[in-house]
Amino acid sequence: MRKFFKDYIQSLVPYEPGKPIEEVERELGLFRQRTDPSDFWRMGVTKLASNENPLGPSRKALRAMRAALRRVHLYPDGGCYELKHRLSEEYGLSSDQFLIGNGSDEILSLLARAFLNEGDKVISSDCSFLIYPLVTQACGATYVPVPMKDFRYDLKAILDQIDDRTRIIFIANPNNPTGTYVRADEVEDFLSKVPKDVVVCFDEAYIDFVEAKDFPYLLFHVKTGKPNIILLRTFSKSFGLAGLRVGFAMASKELIQYLGKVRQPFNVNRMAQIGAKAALDDRLFLWRTKRVVSRGRLYLYRKFTQMSLSFVPSEANFVLVNVGRSGRKVSEALMKRGVIVRAMDGYGLHTYIRVTIGTRFELMRFIHALKKVLRKGEGLS
Ligand code: PMP
Repeated sequence: MRKFFKDYIQSLVPYEPGKPIEEVERELGLFRQRTDPSDFWRMGVTKLASNENPLGPSRKALRAMRAALRRVHLYPDGGCYELKHRLSEEYGLSSDQFLIGNGSDEILSLLARAFLNEGDKVISSDCSFLIYPLVTQACGATYVPVPMKDFRYDLKAILDQIDDRTRIIFIANPNNPTGTYVRADEVEDFLSKVPKDVVVCFDEAYIDFVEAKDFPYLLFHVKTGKPNIILLRTFSKSFGLAGLRVGFAMASKELIQYLGKVRQPFNVNRMAQIGAKAALDDRLFLWRTKRVVSRGRLYLYRKFTQMSLSFVPSEANFVLVNVGRSGRKVSEALMKRGVIVRAMDGYGLHTYIRVTIGTRFELMRFIHALKKVLRKGEGLS
């Protein structure tokens, strides 16, 4: 008899997102109140687990969406005309070089669906965004995770893995969960050696937080028509709109047109299109966000150094830190104190946690809780 389920789908391990605040509040009974009046820090829940924007959404986006609410009985513009037009002004490309997705997550699946056959190969790093293996395996293709070198993508080792079956290479730059990046010189050398029939996807979800001078800005490759390069961006991080689900891709007209064939006709909802367009105009919000992240990173580096914890310097809105014991247990103990961070077991980094840069208050609360957990073993079993 034919198999009912496909083996390669059956064996997928679903992506485990950061716990929603509401769920933790429910579980711990921390519903926005101090559980112990003598302990100032134990109030409500602070989520530092999904690299969201600590400043909330852009006010301009909120205003535009509020005004647009009265038209939600109408389907959205399936072609996202207005948003693409605004993006084309912003990035100096033509409108047909953008694909808008229901989060950049959706674009990752579209890429996989559009390019992969069973048995094809996708290469990335062994410590990168967990959606890459998921979308690959969901198409019956093989995911080749190349080991990182000092928490960084090893582009030379990736080149060595390319063969006739290789169709896509995913590079998160800066990378999640390490916060590291590949330099412009490395990328140029790499791109000159990758065969033209392999799609190279640079996932730049965290690009707005980068301060490094040698970071590669690859837009000119798209402008000059490199056919196999695709850049992914998102409104979930620096623009503060994760709940709306909007991301976009920039690539050659041909590649964008090809990917568009496999998307749903109304994949980006009305509010998302309007909110994203307005957020692009909110320069002040973007500037404030970058400042919070930049200062927050330095604050955490200082505190981790004082606590003798080693960490990986980051160009993104999170920091990976070695807590010297089970990261899962530490994150569970932190959760009991109302702070949600991400354990890194899924990446084989058993003594690490990843913490998102929050407001100064949120970071102080995190450090306070971490000290209690690590020094006194509170909540650690
Ligand atoms: N790429 C990377 C590297 C990410 O970390 C994330 C968010 N966790 C995404 C893509 C997905 O972002 P979006 O919310 O646009 O789907």
